[in-house]
Amino acid sequence: MTEVCKSLEELCAERGMRMTEQRRIIARILDQSDDHPDVEELYRRSVKIDAKISISTVYRTVKLFEDAGIIERHDFRDGRSRYETVPDEHHDHLIDLKTGVVIEFHSPEIEALQERIAREYGFRLVEHRLELYGVPLTKDDL
Ligand SMILES: [Zn+2]
Repeated sequence: MTEVCKSLEELCAERGMRMTEQRRIIARILDQSDDHPDVEELYRRSVKIDAKISISTVYRTVKLFEDAGIIERHDFRDGRSRYETVPDEHHDHLIDLKTGVVIEFHSPEIEALQERIAREYGFRLVEHRLELYGVPLTKDDL
């Protein structure tokens, strides 16, 4: 098996990262978050557990995890980077422009279409990112 289901702390340990208690707290919060929090939100959650954590510690830790390839950064066009642990299974994102809420989805049709397009241009697809931006339907749309 690969790294499926391993906690961030385990992934950090495997990479020989020095883990302070504050880094552990931030790692656990990232593991538990499924709403793609930004640094400020991670900071808000962190200080509830350890009031001494500073926002710059959160910034540095998130950067460290990102550089190690164990979390992913997303820019959903609202000017703040948002983070999630590298998912076990690939998904794409639909962003509600009104609320910033991020919906995860997976479409086998889109996946296949992307493979096909890459192939038509002579490429083997290695990775992709797809973000849909929308506003909730109102009765005028129906
Ligand atoms: Zn996601």
